[in-house]
Amino acid sequence: MKIEGTTKVIGIFGYPVKHSASPAMHNAAFKALELDYVYLPFEVKPERIETAAKALIALNIAGVNVTIPHKETILPHLNEISREAQLIGAVNTIVVRDNKLIGHNTDGQGFVASLKENGEKKIKEKTLLILGAGGAARAVATQAALEEAGRILITDKLKEKAEQVVRDLNKNIPSCEVRTIPQEEIKSTLKDADFLINATPIGMNPGDPLIINPDWLPTSLLVFDLVYNLGETKLMKAAREKGCRVIGGLGMLVQQGAISFQLWTGKEAPLKVMRKVLEEKFR
Ligand code: NAP
Repeated sequence: MKIEGTTKVIGIFGYPVKHSASPAMHNAAFKALELDYVYLPFEVKPERIETAAKALIALNIAGVNVTIPHKETILPHLNEISREAQLIGAVNTIVVRDNKLIGHNTDGQGFVASLKENGEKKIKEKTLLILGAGGAARAVATQAALEEAGRILITDKLKEKAEQVVRDLNKNIPSCEVRTIPQEEIKSTLKDADFLINATPIGMNPGDPLIINPDWLPTSLLVFDLVYNLGETKLMKAAREKGCRVIGGLGMLVQQGAISFQLWTGKEAPLKVMRKVLEEKFR
Protein backbone atom coordinates (compact mmCIF):
# COMPACT_ATOMS: atom_id res chain seq x y z
CA MET A 1 0.00 0.00 0.00
CA LYS A 2 1.38 3.37 -1.06
CA ILE A 3 0.47 6.34 1.13
CA GLU A 4 0.97 9.70 -0.52
CA GLY A 5 -0.16 13.29 -0.07
CA THR A 6 -3.31 12.51 -2.03
CA THR A 7 -4.34 9.47 0.01
CA LYS A 8 -7.82 9.75 1.52
CA VAL A 9 -8.20 8.59 5.10
CA ILE A 10 -11.07 6.44 6.37
CA GLY A 11 -11.16 4.97 9.87
CA ILE A 12 -13.09 3.45 12.71
CA PHE A 13 -13.97 5.02 16.08
CA GLY A 14 -14.31 2.46 18.88
CA TYR A 15 -13.25 1.75 22.45
CA PRO A 16 -11.70 -0.73 22.41
CA VAL A 17 -10.94 -1.02 18.72
CA LYS A 18 -8.08 -3.53 18.66
CA HIS A 19 -10.40 -6.46 17.89
CA SER A 20 -11.91 -4.82 14.78
CA ALA A 21 -11.66 -6.70 11.49
CA SER A 22 -12.73 -3.62 9.51
CA PRO A 23 -9.22 -2.16 8.86
CA ALA A 24 -8.03 -5.41 7.24
CA MET A 25 -11.27 -5.83 5.28
CA HIS A 26 -11.40 -2.30 3.89
CA ASN A 27 -7.68 -1.95 3.20
CA ALA A 28 -7.83 -5.18 1.17
CA ALA A 29 -10.81 -3.76 -0.74
CA PHE A 30 -9.00 -0.45 -1.47
CA LYS A 31 -5.98 -2.39 -2.66
CA ALA A 32 -8.03 -4.70 -4.89
CA LEU A 33 -9.64 -1.71 -6.64
CA GLU A 34 -6.38 0.32 -6.59
CA LEU A 35 -8.11 3.17 -4.75
CA ASP A 36 -5.98 5.85 -3.10
CA TYR A 37 -7.49 5.29 0.36
CA VAL A 38 -6.26 3.98 3.71
CA TYR A 39 -8.35 2.73 6.66
CA LEU A 40 -7.08 3.26 10.21
CA PRO A 41 -8.28 2.26 13.70
CA PHE A 42 -8.89 5.16 16.12
CA GLU A 43 -9.25 4.26 19.79
CA VAL A 44 -11.56 7.01 21.06
CA LYS A 45 -12.37 7.18 24.78
CA PRO A 46 -16.08 7.75 25.47
CA GLU A 47 -15.53 11.24 26.92
CA ARG A 48 -13.65 12.32 23.77
CA ILE A 49 -16.27 11.48 21.17
CA GLU A 50 -17.24 15.09 20.52
CA THR A 51 -13.60 16.12 20.00
CA ALA A 52 -13.07 13.11 17.73
CA ALA A 53 -16.15 14.01 15.66
CA LYS A 54 -14.87 17.58 15.19
CA ALA A 55 -11.43 16.24 14.29
CA LEU A 56 -12.90 14.46 11.26
CA ILE A 57 -13.43 17.84 9.61
CA ALA A 58 -10.26 19.44 10.99
CA LEU A 59 -8.11 16.60 9.65
CA ASN A 60 -10.00 16.25 6.35
CA ILE A 61 -10.83 12.61 7.03
CA ALA A 62 -13.19 11.18 4.38
CA GLY A 63 -15.29 9.01 6.68
CA VAL A 64 -15.37 6.51 9.52
CA ASN A 65 -17.14 3.50 10.88
CA VAL A 66 -18.45 3.89 14.40
CA THR A 67 -18.60 1.00 16.82
CA ILE A 68 -19.22 0.31 20.51
CA PRO A 69 -19.59 2.49 22.62
CA HIS A 70 -20.08 5.45 20.26
CA LYS A 71 -22.92 4.40 17.94
CA GLU A 72 -25.55 6.41 19.83
CA THR A 73 -23.46 9.03 21.65
CA ILE A 74 -22.05 10.47 18.42
CA LEU A 75 -25.53 11.35 17.09
CA PRO A 76 -25.70 14.91 18.58
CA HIS A 77 -22.40 15.77 16.88
CA LEU A 78 -23.58 14.99 13.33
CA ASN A 79 -24.99 17.44 10.78
CA GLU A 80 -27.29 14.99 9.02
CA ILE A 81 -28.60 11.53 9.84
CA SER A 82 -30.05 9.11 7.27
CA ARG A 83 -33.62 7.89 7.71
CA GLU A 84 -32.48 4.35 8.63
CA ALA A 85 -30.05 5.64 11.22
CA GLN A 86 -32.74 7.91 12.71
CA LEU A 87 -35.16 5.01 12.96
CA ILE A 88 -32.54 2.69 14.45
CA GLY A 89 -31.29 5.44 16.76
CA ALA A 90 -27.62 4.71 16.04
CA VAL A 91 -25.00 5.14 13.30
CA ASN A 92 -22.24 2.79 12.21
CA THR A 93 -20.94 4.89 9.30
CA ILE A 94 -20.12 8.58 8.83
CA VAL A 95 -19.42 10.22 5.51
CA VAL A 96 -17.67 13.61 5.58
CA ARG A 97 -18.88 15.78 2.73
CA ASP A 98 -18.54 19.58 2.29
CA ASN A 99 -17.40 19.92 5.91
CA LYS A 100 -20.52 18.12 7.12
CA LEU A 101 -20.81 14.85 9.03
CA ILE A 102 -23.50 12.61 7.58
CA GLY A 103 -24.46 9.56 9.66
CA HIS A 104 -25.74 6.27 8.26
CA ASN A 105 -26.51 2.83 9.63
CA THR A 106 -25.71 -0.02 7.24
CA ASP A 107 -26.29 -2.94 9.66
CA GLY A 108 -29.96 -3.48 8.80
CA GLN A 109 -29.33 -3.18 5.06
CA GLY A 110 -26.38 -5.56 5.46
CA PHE A 111 -28.73 -8.08 7.08
CA VAL A 112 -31.19 -7.88 4.19
CA ALA A 113 -28.40 -8.03 1.58
CA SER A 114 -27.05 -11.15 3.27
CA LEU A 115 -30.49 -12.77 3.22
CA LYS A 116 -30.76 -11.99 -0.50
CA GLU A 117 -27.26 -13.28 -1.19
CA ASN A 118 -28.41 -16.54 0.38
CA GLY A 119 -31.40 -16.81 -1.93
CA GLU A 120 -33.99 -15.38 0.48
CA LYS A 121 -35.38 -12.64 -1.73
CA LYS A 122 -38.44 -11.68 0.27
CA ILE A 123 -39.03 -10.46 3.81
CA LYS A 124 -42.45 -9.05 2.99
CA GLU A 125 -45.15 -10.73 5.08
CA LYS A 126 -42.69 -13.04 6.87
CA THR A 127 -42.81 -13.64 10.62
CA LEU A 128 -39.50 -12.96 12.37
CA LEU A 129 -38.59 -13.99 15.90
CA ILE A 130 -35.62 -11.98 17.14
CA LEU A 131 -33.65 -13.06 20.22
CA GLY A 132 -32.07 -10.03 21.91
CA ALA A 133 -33.03 -6.35 21.89
CA GLY A 134 -29.66 -4.60 21.64
CA GLY A 135 -28.20 -2.52 18.82
CA ALA A 136 -28.07 -5.34 16.27
CA ALA A 137 -31.67 -6.39 16.98
CA ARG A 138 -32.80 -2.79 16.57
CA ALA A 139 -31.10 -2.53 13.17
CA VAL A 140 -32.49 -5.85 11.93
CA ALA A 141 -36.03 -5.20 13.21
CA THR A 142 -36.11 -1.68 11.73
CA GLN A 143 -34.96 -2.81 8.30
CA ALA A 144 -37.35 -5.76 8.34
CA ALA A 145 -40.22 -3.40 9.22
CA LEU A 146 -39.18 -1.07 6.37
CA GLU A 147 -39.23 -4.12 4.05
CA GLU A 148 -42.82 -4.78 5.15
CA ALA A 149 -42.28 -7.91 7.25
CA GLY A 150 -45.61 -9.37 8.37
CA ARG A 151 -44.84 -9.73 12.09
CA ILE A 152 -41.76 -9.04 14.18
CA LEU A 153 -41.58 -10.66 17.61
CA ILE A 154 -38.80 -9.65 19.95
CA THR A 155 -37.66 -11.27 23.17
CA ASP A 156 -34.84 -10.26 25.50
CA LYS A 157 -33.63 -11.37 28.92
CA LEU A 158 -34.60 -7.86 30.00
CA LYS A 159 -38.30 -7.48 29.16
CA GLU A 160 -38.14 -3.67 29.41
CA LYS A 161 -35.40 -3.51 26.78
CA ALA A 162 -37.49 -5.43 24.24
CA GLU A 163 -40.51 -3.28 25.12
CA GLN A 164 -38.56 -0.10 24.37
CA VAL A 165 -37.54 -1.37 20.90
CA VAL A 166 -41.15 -2.33 20.21
CA ARG A 167 -42.45 1.06 21.38
CA ASP A 168 -40.01 2.87 19.06
CA LEU A 169 -40.92 0.70 16.07
CA ASN A 170 -44.66 0.99 16.66
CA LYS A 171 -44.29 4.76 16.80
CA ASN A 172 -42.01 5.10 13.76
CA ILE A 173 -43.25 2.34 11.45
CA PRO A 174 -46.85 1.69 12.56
CA SER A 175 -47.67 -0.33 9.43
CA CYS A 176 -45.77 -3.37 10.76
CA GLU A 177 -46.99 -5.58 13.60
CA VAL A 178 -44.20 -5.59 16.19
CA ARG A 179 -44.51 -6.93 19.74
CA THR A 180 -42.53 -8.55 22.52
CA ILE A 181 -42.98 -12.12 23.60
CA PRO A 182 -41.94 -13.59 26.95
CA GLN A 183 -39.07 -16.09 26.83
CA GLU A 184 -41.51 -18.87 27.83
CA GLU A 185 -43.37 -18.40 24.52
CA ILE A 186 -40.36 -18.96 22.27
CA LYS A 187 -41.27 -22.62 21.72
CA SER A 188 -44.88 -21.99 20.66
CA THR A 189 -43.94 -18.91 18.60
CA LEU A 190 -41.41 -20.89 16.57
CA LYS A 191 -44.16 -23.14 15.21
CA ASP A 192 -45.43 -20.27 13.01
CA ALA A 193 -42.22 -18.26 12.51
CA ASP A 194 -40.40 -18.02 9.16
CA PHE A 195 -37.09 -16.65 10.48
CA LEU A 196 -35.33 -17.07 13.83
CA ILE A 197 -32.65 -14.44 14.34
CA ASN A 198 -30.07 -14.64 17.09
CA ALA A 199 -29.15 -11.03 17.86
CA THR A 200 -27.58 -11.82 21.23
CA PRO A 201 -23.87 -12.38 21.82
CA ILE A 202 -24.63 -15.97 22.95
CA GLY A 203 -22.52 -18.19 20.70
CA MET A 204 -19.50 -15.90 20.36
CA ASN A 205 -17.49 -18.08 22.75
CA PRO A 206 -17.13 -21.78 21.97
CA GLY A 207 -18.10 -22.51 25.60
CA ASP A 208 -21.44 -20.64 25.35
CA PRO A 209 -24.59 -22.71 25.83
CA LEU A 210 -26.97 -23.42 22.96
CA ILE A 211 -29.41 -20.48 23.08
CA ILE A 212 -32.45 -22.56 22.20
CA ASN A 213 -33.65 -26.15 22.52
CA PRO A 214 -33.10 -27.61 19.01
CA ASP A 215 -36.25 -29.73 19.37
CA TRP A 216 -38.22 -26.49 19.04
CA LEU A 217 -36.89 -25.73 15.54
CA PRO A 218 -39.28 -26.70 12.73
CA THR A 219 -37.49 -27.74 9.53
CA SER A 220 -39.30 -24.97 7.64
CA LEU A 221 -37.47 -22.32 9.71
CA LEU A 222 -34.62 -20.14 8.45
CA VAL A 223 -32.10 -19.61 11.26
CA PHE A 224 -29.90 -16.50 10.98
CA ASP A 225 -27.19 -16.23 13.61
CA LEU A 226 -25.68 -12.73 13.64
CA VAL A 227 -22.60 -14.04 15.47
CA TYR A 228 -19.74 -13.91 12.98
CA ASN A 229 -16.56 -14.77 14.83
CA LEU A 230 -16.91 -18.55 14.67
CA GLY A 231 -17.22 -20.55 11.45
CA GLU A 232 -20.31 -22.35 12.73
CA THR A 233 -21.97 -21.59 16.07
CA LYS A 234 -23.71 -24.21 18.19
CA LEU A 235 -27.05 -22.77 17.08
CA MET A 236 -26.11 -23.00 13.40
CA LYS A 237 -24.91 -26.59 13.80
CA ALA A 238 -28.05 -27.65 15.70
CA ALA A 239 -30.32 -25.96 13.14
CA ARG A 240 -28.43 -27.52 10.23
CA GLU A 241 -28.76 -30.97 11.81
CA LYS A 242 -32.51 -30.39 12.20
CA GLY A 243 -32.74 -29.67 8.45
CA CYS A 244 -33.31 -25.88 8.74
CA ARG A 245 -31.77 -23.37 6.34
CA VAL A 246 -28.94 -21.60 8.16
CA ILE A 247 -27.13 -18.29 7.62
CA GLY A 248 -24.19 -17.08 9.73
CA GLY A 249 -23.28 -13.46 10.55
CA LEU A 250 -20.12 -13.21 8.48
CA GLY A 251 -21.99 -12.43 5.26
CA MET A 252 -23.88 -9.61 7.00
CA LEU A 253 -20.58 -8.18 8.28
CA VAL A 254 -19.25 -8.15 4.70
CA GLN A 255 -22.45 -6.61 3.33
CA GLN A 256 -22.69 -3.83 5.93
CA GLY A 257 -19.04 -3.03 5.18
CA ALA A 258 -19.70 -3.08 1.44
CA ILE A 259 -22.51 -0.53 1.79
CA SER A 260 -20.24 1.74 3.88
CA PHE A 261 -17.47 1.32 1.28
CA GLN A 262 -19.83 2.46 -1.47
CA LEU A 263 -20.96 5.45 0.60
CA TRP A 264 -17.34 6.60 1.03
CA THR A 265 -15.92 5.82 -2.41
CA GLY A 266 -18.93 5.73 -4.74
CA LYS A 267 -17.60 2.38 -5.99
CA GLU A 268 -19.11 -1.08 -5.76
CA ALA A 269 -17.23 -3.03 -3.11
CA PRO A 270 -15.24 -6.16 -3.99
CA LEU A 271 -17.33 -8.56 -1.89
CA LYS A 272 -15.20 -11.65 -2.53
CA VAL A 273 -12.00 -9.93 -1.42
CA MET A 274 -13.67 -8.61 1.74
CA ARG A 275 -15.20 -11.97 2.59
CA LYS A 276 -11.87 -13.77 2.15
CA VAL A 277 -10.19 -11.43 4.66
CA LEU A 278 -12.88 -12.09 7.26
CA GLU A 279 -12.88 -15.84 6.66
CA GLU A 280 -9.12 -15.92 7.20
CA LYS A 281 -9.52 -13.96 10.43
CA PHE A 282 -12.44 -15.87 11.89
CA ARG A 283 -12.09 -19.46 10.60
P1 NAP B 1 -25.93 -5.98 22.66
O1 NAP B 1 -26.20 -4.52 22.42
O2 NAP B 1 -25.15 -6.44 23.86
O3 NAP B 1 -27.38 -6.69 22.68
C1 NAP B 1 -27.59 -8.05 22.92
C2 NAP B 1 -28.87 -8.20 23.74
O4 NAP B 1 -29.19 -9.59 23.87
C3 NAP B 1 -28.76 -7.63 25.16
O5 NAP B 1 -29.91 -6.89 25.46
C4 NAP B 1 -28.67 -8.90 26.01
O6 NAP B 1 -29.14 -8.72 27.31
C5 NAP B 1 -29.58 -9.80 25.24
N1 NAP B 1 -29.42 -11.22 25.58
C6 NAP B 1 -28.32 -11.86 26.02
N2 NAP B 1 -28.60 -13.17 26.19
C7 NAP B 1 -29.89 -13.36 25.84
C8 NAP B 1 -30.76 -14.49 25.79
N3 NAP B 1 -30.33 -15.72 26.14
N4 NAP B 1 -32.03 -14.31 25.36
C9 NAP B 1 -32.47 -13.09 25.01
N5 NAP B 1 -31.70 -11.98 25.05
C10 NAP B 1 -30.42 -12.11 25.45
O7 NAP B 1 -25.20 -6.61 21.41
P2 NAP B 1 -25.35 -6.18 19.86
O8 NAP B 1 -24.38 -5.13 19.53
O9 NAP B 1 -26.78 -5.99 19.56
O10 NAP B 1 -24.81 -7.50 19.15
C11 NAP B 1 -25.47 -8.76 19.29
C12 NAP B 1 -24.74 -9.82 18.47
O11 NAP B 1 -24.85 -9.48 17.09
C13 NAP B 1 -23.24 -9.94 18.76
O12 NAP B 1 -22.86 -11.26 18.66
C14 NAP B 1 -22.60 -9.13 17.65
O13 NAP B 1 -21.28 -9.55 17.35
C15 NAP B 1 -23.56 -9.48 16.51
N6 NAP B 1 -23.54 -8.49 15.41
C16 NAP B 1 -23.27 -8.96 14.18
C17 NAP B 1 -23.26 -8.10 13.12
C18 NAP B 1 -22.95 -8.65 11.76
O14 NAP B 1 -22.72 -7.86 10.84
N7 NAP B 1 -22.98 -9.95 11.57
C19 NAP B 1 -23.52 -6.73 13.29
C20 NAP B 1 -23.81 -6.27 14.59
C21 NAP B 1 -23.81 -7.18 15.66
P3 NAP B 1 -28.05 -8.34 28.47
O15 NAP B 1 -27.47 -7.03 28.08
O16 NAP B 1 -28.87 -8.30 29.71
O17 NAP B 1 -27.04 -9.46 28.48
